[in-house]
Parts: sequence; structure tokens; C-alpha cells
Amino acid sequence: MMACPLALGCHLSTTGGYRAMGETALSIGATTFAFFTRNPRGGTAKAVDPDDARELRELMAANGFGRLVAHAPYTMNLCSAKPAALDFARRALADDLARMESLPGNFYNLHPGSHVGQGTDEGIRLIVEGLNEALVKGQSTTVLLETMVGKGSEIGRSFEELARIIDGVREKQLLGVCLDTCHVWDGGYDVRDGLDGVLDEFDRLIGLGLLRALHLNDSKHARGSRKDRHERIGQGAIGLGAFAALVSNQRLAAVPMILETPNDLAGYAAEISLLRRLAEDRMDVSRPFCGEVG
Ligand code: FE
Ligand code: FE
Ligand code: ZN
Repeated sequence: MMACPLALGCHLSTTGGYRAMGETALSIGATTFAFFTRNPRGGTAKAVDPDDARELRELMAANGFGRLVAHAPYTMNLCSAKPAALDFARRALADDLARMESLPGNFYNLHPGSHVGQGTDEGIRLIVEGLNEALVKGQSTTVLLETMVGKGSEIGRSFEELARIIDGVREKQLLGVCLDTCHVWDGGYDVRDGLDGVLDEFDRLIGLGLLRALHLNDSKHARGSRKDRHERIGQGAIGLGAFAALVSNQRLAAVPMILETPNDLAGYAAEISLLRRLAEDRMDVSRPFCGEVG
């Protein structure tokens, strides 16, 4: 019996459309990918071509892809102090989620937001209000809150803050978390020497069932630096051993893993094959099989 292959991929450019991203993913050995739903700096989104979306869905089904992890624009701040920015964030979120329904059942990852001096409590209140407005029954996309480094007034550095947001949202079944290894490391969590402890803490505060995706990035800086500078896998402070442990950890076996390392496509292809080799080498006999991971 073959163990379930990892859903592993990287961030791809949307320039050629959906199917082109699927083909690029295949060409580098990826079985999932991430993409910006609109210009990462903001602005309006391109209309979805339904044929292009269908072709990607067919390609994904034919090649055993895991769920995609779309990424909201960086300018989306659900707890901005400026009415125009807050209005943009809420409109863009609603619009992106409507367009995500052309690729049903995937993930949409967002940075919770920066409270810009309003305080954490007010920030969390605004984020919850925005999510409650956007998350409607019947929608097939799961919205993921990304773990942040806590730079400036960023909300979401601690698992406690993410738990408080989730707590306030009504449609909890539409919500999850995307753990970014560089962000949690720069934010102070020891994913290098204490991965199991970090996962235990996540489980205690949020629930491991809500850990739905990973961003795999090494870090240019020391733990707790609050810097957020991604490094290639194995070339930073987190190091290769930690990534071997991550990709072979049975608690993470069902979770799509996305690279956001400073790389071109050839570099991503090399990282993907490296991580697949590490996963196979360290494969635990008790690791779940495809049929059992849901
Ligand atoms: Fe992100
Ligand atoms: Fe990330
Ligand atoms: Zn980052």
C-alpha cells in the first residue's frame, strides 16, 4: 500500500490564467499551488473565465491535486482605521469569495489585519465583524487565517489571538488556519527544535482540526525576530532538519504545503523534489494512508 503523497506546491503567477497555473504546477512536480486572487497591492480583479476554471478543475482531478490555497491581496486589512481601506477590504473579500466558487472547495488564505493603533481588542472586533459579513452558509471555500510574525500592529502572531477571532465567527465550519513556518518562527514559536510542542499548543488553543494549510518558508532571522524575511528551505535559521520533520509528521499529512521562498520555477521544482525525498526517507509506518486522511 502506498502512503498518501504530499500535496506540495508553491506560489504561482496568474498571468496565463487558471489552467496555465495547473500546467506549470505539473511541470515542477507540484500537486497544489497558491495564487493571488487579484493584484497583491490591491485594485480590481480580472473576471473569471468559466472554461478556464473548468479546465483547471479537470486537470486537478486527473492528477490527484490537493486543495489550492488562494491568497488575498496584502492590502486587504479587515481592521484598518481608515473607512475607505476598511470598505475595500470587505468588498474585496466578498468579491473574492464569490469568484472562488468557480473553483469550488478550495482554500482562501488571508492576513487577519493590522490594527494600526486601535488596539488588539478593537482589531479583533473589526476582523470578526468583517468575517461574519463575508462568510455565508452554502459557500464552499474555507477561509484560512494566516499566522503572522507580529510586525508593527499585526494581529495573529499568537495562537491565542487567532483563537479569539475564530471564537467570534458564526460560520466556524468555513474557517481554518494556515501556519506559515517563517512567521511562527519569527514570531517566537520553536518549530525547529520543538515542533511537537508547537502543534500541541495549537491543538490546545485552536484545535488541530482547524490547521488546514502550511506555508513552508525558512527564515533569514533568529527566532522571535519579528522580521518576516523568507529564506529558501534549509538555507535559513530553521534549517533542513526541521522541514524533514514537518513533511513527515503524521499530524500534517493531510495538509497542503505551499512554498513562498525566494525562488524561480527551477528553484521551486528543486525544493519540491527535495521535500518529497525527505518525506519518503522519514516516512513513519504509522503515517495514514490516502483513504484515511479525509
Ligand atoms: Fe501570506
Ligand atoms: Fe505566508
Ligand atoms: Zn511572510
